[in-house]
Amino acid sequence: MISGPVTSPPSSPSSRTHPRPGTPLRQFVLKVHGLCNLACDHCYVYELADQTWRDKPAFMAPGTVRHAAARIAEHAAEHSLGAVGIVLHGGEPLLMGAPRLRETLTVLDAAIAPVAWIDWRMQTNGILLTDEIGELLLEFGVKVGVSLDGDREANDRHRRYRHGGGSHPETLRGLALLRKPRFRELYAGLLCTIDVRNDPIAVYEALLAQEPPHVDLLLPHATWDEPPPYAQPGTTPYADWLLRVHDRWLADGRPVPIRSFDALHTIARGGRSETEAVGVDRGIVAVIETDGTWEQPDSMKVAFHGAAGTGRDVVTTSADELLDLPAMRHRQSGLAGLSATCRACPVVARCGGGLYAHRYRTGSGFDNPSVYCADLKGLITSMDSAPQPVGNGLPVLPDWVFDELASGGGGPLAIAYLTAAQESITRALLVAVAGHADETAARAWPLLADLDKQSPAAVRAVVTHPFVRTWAVQCLRDGHDTARLADVVAAVVIAAGTDAQVEVTPRNGQIHLPSIGTLTAPTPANVMITSRALTATGPLAAGTPAETLAGTSAQTPPGVAGVGGVVVGSGFAPVRTVEVDGRVLRLEDADPYRDCHEWPATGPLTDGDAEAWATSLTAAWRELSLDAPEQLAGLGELVTVVTPLVAAADGTLRSATSQQAFGALGIAATDDPAALAVMLVHEFQHAKLGAVLDLYDLVDPDSADPVTVGWRPDARPAELALQGTYAHLAVADIWRRRALRSAPGAAGYYTMYRDWTLHAADALRNGTALTERGRRFVDGIAATIARWPK
Ligand code: SF4
Repeated sequence: MISGPVTSPPSSPSSRTHPRPGTPLRQFVLKVHGLCNLACDHCYVYELADQTWRDKPAFMAPGTVRHAAARIAEHAAEHSLGAVGIVLHGGEPLLMGAPRLRETLTVLDAAIAPVAWIDWRMQTNGILLTDEIGELLLEFGVKVGVSLDGDREANDRHRRYRHGGGSHPETLRGLALLRKPRFRELYAGLLCTIDVRNDPIAVYEALLAQEPPHVDLLLPHATWDEPPPYAQPGTTPYADWLLRVHDRWLADGRPVPIRSFDALHTIARGGRSETEAVGVDRGIVAVIETDGTWEQPDSMKVAFHGAAGTGRDVVTTSADELLDLPAMRHRQSGLAGLSATCRACPVVARCGGGLYAHRYRTGSGFDNPSVYCADLKGLITSMDSAPQPVGNGLPVLPDWVFDELASGGGGPLAIAYLTAAQESITRALLVAVAGHADETAARAWPLLADLDKQSPAAVRAVVTHPFVRTWAVQCLRDGHDTARLADVVAAVVIAAGTDAQVEVTPRNGQIHLPSIGTLTAPTPANVMITSRALTATGPLAAGTPAETLAGTSAQTPPGVAGVGGVVVGSGFAPVRTVEVDGRVLRLEDADPYRDCHEWPATGPLTDGDAEAWATSLTAAWRELSLDAPEQLAGLGELVTVVTPLVAAADGTLRSATSQQAFGALGIAATDDPAALAVMLVHEFQHAKLGAVLDLYDLVDPDSADPVTVGWRPDARPAELALQGTYAHLAVADIWRRRALRSAPGAAGYYTMYRDWTLHAADALRNGTALTERGRRFVDGIAATIARWPK
């Protein structure tokens, strides 16, 4: 236990002078109860090399909870984090009982909620879930993940009581409670530890029978000292097992998100893994033990006794100080912290060396590939050759993605599906443009196919830039500027960091490389571009300095380079970028195809303008963390570009999206963060719906059935009415949350937007314009409103 003051933990002098570590922590796992009602033989807390649990208190005392809460709040405030994840963990967290659980949630909420939105989670075996606990979890919005290894035989192979009996029936009873309509929203998903002796399809079917919103398939923890069970040299039993599930999952149309598969697909498309198991995302998780000591994630317990320990606790050590410990710095070092073997591996951007703990070997520590190396490589390369979930034919969304979007939401995975579909559309447009390309662009085009094989993430990073599509559409419409096709290829060359040469043609003295920047051409001659150098093909003007592109792609994973990562000599202006809540957004003030919105785009910004944008977007993100927390992660995934628009002379707020520019939001600058927050969410809705409309006819194109809506005096064509309804759904939700915290005037705005949305949804449903898909979409909107107060 911790003794000492239980209000704000004192910042030690060093914490004030301490340099800020690079990547803040985003998720805190609180070991609120150290014991368990089961004795699973694969448990990483009790059964592995680390036995430190024996010296710790059984549960987290109230004083320790208060210290932990204050440290988390301090970290969130220090880094302006819009949201933090709190995972109540154990042992078995529900052994603490309802009264202590309420006290713990109350203390954490009181300290952290004023600073950041809390993404509450609990990981449990589900046995002690009751209606009383469910009501309490509903009150705080705690989502529950349940550990289940498959059918009864598979689950009870490991998940047993001390007396040897299996836990499957009791866990299923807890899951039945979570599936009740009353508690369904609490159900986060299932966590299954793989045992290759279990039939993969039987496990998959047993998990899906529990109707989980999400599934996580975990490799059993192992190291080079303690290799995985049933793994023999030259075999890949875990890859084989996972691929059986993967193939069936694809054949079923991906009926549920499966974290490891989705993460690998998402990274391959340039997204984030959102898990430490694969990919090179930095470690953002820390554990607080029952005694208040900071620890690294539990998986480290497999390595050796005390491996997860840091020797620090929440009384004496802030989260920033924790991050500065060598062990934590190494965990956060991404690609640079991997072994030489991994850094040279062709699949490293996706594998990332696997889970940190799985690299351990006595003597060389963590400087090794994963003990699952062969399985990970086999899994990734086989997934590459499997049919892609969204191909070049007719892309479709899994039902759960469609329904999540219809409800007004859209988390990172749903957005990843939309992005993949948009990429397919843009690729098809590029193929069509190539058929009309001028001589220089036609010479560059075949290189793109080669780069697609060598550096697919770099191709995706450029092809999904919003203004590649706006240009391609315009080009196909009026034959305008086919030369930009070579600019697209050159941008990929730079993003990929290859030395391939592309010849590009300056227009009006400039070459704009989409997502990279603008080069003012030194001569009228064409220019050869590689990732490192420019060479004019004609005579250089006297005294013109040689330009040098110094790509950073050698140090960063493919697809990341090009986000402001290109440094050059005079004559090159990289795309402006701003960092908002840990994400890099492009501020597009130069791309010649950015002017695709209802209002004109501004000209080039000054450095002062860009700083003002960074400040106002950061402030708006902060507003969203309070007023639209569930939208933040998806918004951050979708929005890659902000295009500054010319402000209205009368000060009216302006924002816009274009269906041809997925990922870009057009906004006129404002210094009102609350208003900017509303505009961001409003346009996020339009962007999502535009992408859905690219895939489905939600409205009968032949329908002439106009719809009367509350926000306009004139009846609207059905598709425009649907767009407005969907946008106002999210705006109403913002005002609902503002009303809950008694913001002035919020209740009135909430009522107005809710009623507009409700009546427009009813009018659409009562009309004849919606297709069957459209009706399902609007039903989703109506179901969300039905959950709100009248
Ligand atoms: S597949 Fe093996 S070598 Fe490649 S990154 Fe993963 S662990 Fe490292």
